[in-house]
Amino acid sequence: LGRAGLRKLNFSSGPAVLPEEVLRRAQEALWDLDGSGIGILEHSHRGKEFGRVLDRTEAAIREVGSIGDEFAVLFETAGATHHFALIPQNFLSRDATADYCHTGIWSGKAIDEAKRVGNVHVVCSGEANNFATTPTLCTYSPSPRYVHYTSNETIYGTQWASPPQGAPAPLICDASSDIFSRPLPLAGHGLIYAGAQKNLGPSGISLVIARRDFIASGNTDLSPLAQYRTYEAERSMHNTPNTFGVFVIGEVCRWILDNGGLAAMAERNARKAKLLYDALDASKVWRGHATPESRSLMNVTFRGTTKDLEEQLLARCESEGLSGLRGHRSVGGLRASIYNAFPEDGVRRLVTLMHEFER
Ligand code: PMP
Repeated sequence: LGRAGLRKLNFSSGPAVLPEEVLRRAQEALWDLDGSGIGILEHSHRGKEFGRVLDRTEAAIREVGSIGDEFAVLFETAGATHHFALIPQNFLSRDATADYCHTGIWSGKAIDEAKRVGNVHVVCSGEANNFATTPTLCTYSPSPRYVHYTSNETIYGTQWASPPQGAPAPLICDASSDIFSRPLPLAGHGLIYAGAQKNLGPSGISLVIARRDFIASGNTDLSPLAQYRTYEAERSMHNTPNTFGVFVIGEVCRWILDNGGLAAMAERNARKAKLLYDALDASKVWRGHATPESRSLMNVTFRGTTKDLEEQLLARCESEGLSGLRGHRSVGGLRASIYNAFPEDGVRRLVTLMHEFER
């Protein structure tokens, strides 16, 4: 358990565990931001104190992701679901086609929103085997406006090892559940978006990293808050942003930098996930959902041989302070979400319990 034995091991899929150092700094800033005598929740978003928070958060994001000036870094007071709708509204039209990779529930929701605006061509689908595999073979339409994919499928526990290959248009990525868990693949991307509440910070804010020329190509007949260009032109301050969210994202990025950056995150995440996948591969009673080449390093989904066994393990975990392991209802079983801030020792604790049950 964490500090003073009070904190549980939080395997929740999101909102999710944050680094303890970040929580401590947020706690201080609630009371007094940077020695200003006013807390982060109380500062005007137009004041110089919050201006500095915005500056340093953007700078830290750019440093973490090696993001050049051809990309804008934007904060929206919205979750990833909001972008499912905003993306087609901005970049699609009635007669145009967008290509979507269908790898699970989240891409399905994104597809439904795009269909309201224009034509959708599904370039690959994992539906036939209950989304256990991320298909690598994509059949693109002749001239799509963009190609959308979900880099990590939070519910089924699958992940693209690398972005879809050979796309004939800018890639758009829903990176909600694996952003900054490994080096950011910017090449070929027009826009990357992520709800913050897994690897970045609190809920109620999303990060958008978008090429400036791609933003400029968007539709202009939407209300200002629905256009990505507004956020770019007004530095995410057309209206009051989620100031606390911006602060926390900045602190999380500072924590990532202090801990070796994305290469170190990737290495640590691979090590943590391997502990669990090795345990699953060696087990006769626990079985992973995702096929090996599609396994997520962030959300490890697995079943027991019987429902009873799953329930017993879940109950035992709860009683030992391992929380949030119940799988999503569409997959069942268990799901261990082990984002950047989740400690390696916590993964070992789960593996030990799985072994104990098996014996
Ligand atoms: N996309 C993915 C991959 C997700 O995991 C989630 C949330 N679990 C969403 C989209 C939806 O995010 P939000 O609730 O912030 O709209």
